[in-house]
Amino acid sequence: MKPFKTNAICPKCGKLLHTTDIPEYAFVCLECDENFYSIEVQDYSGERFEVSAECTETMFSQNLEAFQKLKPEPDFIGYDTEEHLADFGFSRILTSKEIIPLVQTLENLLLPETNAAATVSNLTRKE
Ligand SMILES: [Zn+2]
Repeated sequence: MKPFKTNAICPKCGKLLHTTDIPEYAFVCLECDENFYSIEVQDYSGERFEVSAECTETMFSQNLEAFQKLKPEPDFIGYDTEEHLADFGFSRILTSKEIIPLVQTLENLLLPETNAAATVSNLTRKE
């Protein structure tokens, strides 16, 4: 799973953290090359905690309904047309238990090409 951008701040160097798929250690600082428990992460930059996923505007609008059903439910969903990011805002920093399923869901939604390719190769194999 690729790391997703967040606006949580690294407790060591102050740079923004990314998500991981390592149970318990939901955050990684690419600068410090260090993983953090969500409990160690206290601050975020801006009004709310945000997780951002790279996607096109078309994919964003196609998936909007699915985004609204995410757990935990985002307080804010928006598209950043400059950075091509779907932003998901929450009123608090999510725990590792919440973040990992969330980013897995996002990854599944936003990588239809990969899923489609896998489906095609499965079909081909059966023939
Ligand atoms: Zn750091």
